[in-house]
Amino acid sequence: MADRSKLPVPRPTPETQHFWDGTKAGDLLLQQCNDCSHVYFPPRPFCPKCGHREVSVVKASGKATLYSYVINHRPHPAFDGPYSIATVELEEGPRMMTNIVDVEQTPEALQLDMALEVKFEPLNDDITLPYFKPAGGAS
Ligand SMILES: [Zn+2]
Repeated sequence: MADRSKLPVPRPTPETQHFWDGTKAGDLLLQQCNDCSHVYFPPRPFCPKCGHREVSVVKASGKATLYSYVINHRPHPAFDGPYSIATVELEEGPRMMTNIVDVEQTPEALQLDMALEVKFEPLNDDITLPYFKPAGGAS
């Protein structure tokens, strides 16, 4: 039986606290440069494109496409059987490492560029992890 408590627990830092507050509230938060409008992830206090230090927090749509993945066959107590380690490309542009859930973990089921949407799963009282699942499906 999958036991997500066996996953390493991310530790929020002052730079990433807003992101974890967001996932806990059901929002996927990115940052956007106030100067060049570049939207980026992971969180950092300056724009990775132009270096500008005034940035805003923006809410992502939660929509993404599957950019790349590997299927890990080494057993992990947090997952039932093989599991994907994926990079998804968010609608807003940034890419994010995640797991694809609610779908068979096979190359037949996991098609590159398939439409995905975020699914939040609490890991503990403080941390809620963003996973992605096929868009438009049940649950
Ligand atoms: Zn910028």
